[in-house]
Amino acid sequence: MRKPYRFETRTIHAGQPADPSTGAVMTPIYQTSTYRQKRVGEHLGYEYSRTGNPTRHALEECLSSLEEGHAGLAFASGMAAIDAILHLLRPGDHVLAVDDLYGGTYRIFEQTYAPMGVSFSYAPASEPAAFLKHLRPETRLIWLETPTNPLLNLCDIRGIAEGARKMNSSAWICVDNTFATPYLQQPLNLGADIVLHSTTKYLGGHSDVVGGAIVVRDAALAERLAFLQNAVGAVPGPMDCFLVLRGIKTLPVRMERHASNAEAVARFLETHEAIEQVFYPGLPSHPQHDLARRQMRNGGGMVSFTAKGGTHAARRIAEGTHLFALAESLGGVESLIEVPAAMTHASTLDSPLAVSPALIRLSVGLENTQDLVEDLRQALDALA
Ligand SMILES: *Cc1c(COP(=O)(O)O)cnc(C)c1O
Repeated sequence: MRKPYRFETRTIHAGQPADPSTGAVMTPIYQTSTYRQKRVGEHLGYEYSRTGNPTRHALEECLSSLEEGHAGLAFASGMAAIDAILHLLRPGDHVLAVDDLYGGTYRIFEQTYAPMGVSFSYAPASEPAAFLKHLRPETRLIWLETPTNPLLNLCDIRGIAEGARKMNSSAWICVDNTFATPYLQQPLNLGADIVLHSTTKYLGGHSDVVGGAIVVRDAALAERLAFLQNAVGAVPGPMDCFLVLRGIKTLPVRMERHASNAEAVARFLETHEAIEQVFYPGLPSHPQHDLARRQMRNGGGMVSFTAKGGTHAARRIAEGTHLFALAESLGGVESLIEVPAAMTHASTLDSPLAVSPALIRLSVGLENTQDLVEDLRQALDALA
């Protein structure tokens, strides 16, 4: 299914025609590892489920349509998808990455690929020209995350893609679009080559599945990554693909509500006397609010902040909410709170990417807005 249909329609229908054998409206969970062949090599397009499975195929088509790419590939986790992208590299290659990253991305860079001879450097990516000064002749991959996890800085995707092209860089530009989702921004349309997702987060949307995905716009790159998906084999099972497909159907309505709740929470936090700083791209106080308005449909559902009481206060707030559950992960319908330095980003401890232990990160869910604000208020008031 391609364009004429708009985004909301494609979340529900792309890649998901009624099942040809039964008419089932929901894509069946094809719980099979293999497929009967009529004659040797003569089959209906499926041979073995590591290589291809109809439920996974529906998800891959849907993701490709939403990111407006050439092809989508589903993986067993976001990290498995990242690993497949890093398998494109060879010893001696260099990766230039934004300097605020998901902790697991930093960990696989430094602890899995650096020992094999790939080098990594990190730089702020808010100013394209300053960021691209770190490009080298051997840079094969530019790694962006926007908004970044956990500081919610933005990368100017179009500015970086145009700048890199002007410098004749042959590096692929990969954008981790997990925080924004294709509903808020479509990196391929802004000049990126590869989009990465942890579908565990907003695409799945219900904290009930772990998954990952890649979408690319170049056919040759798609073929190489599909080879790696099959050769390395970190594929998701059909049940997990079904759950992500079902989650995606409500992505647009969820993202609207995540963002309106997050904005209300961020505005409340800005007015509370116990708060030092609030990070939310949808607030005019965010240093890249103009870029957010250009690049993203809304500010998203993630909010980070620091309290005046520092590390001690951060712990007390994170342990003092009732509705916001103290937990890692994000993007589900329920609200979560965490301390990145001690939880999701523990692997960056003592590194240049270390985050302040006083930082708190919220994944703002779909509960009643006032209930969420009141929960945070009681946790903050308890500090006094
Ligand atoms: C969670 C996450 C990942 C890793 O995905 P998994 O599904 O947990 O393997 C990568 N990038 C970002 C931004 C994430 O939040």
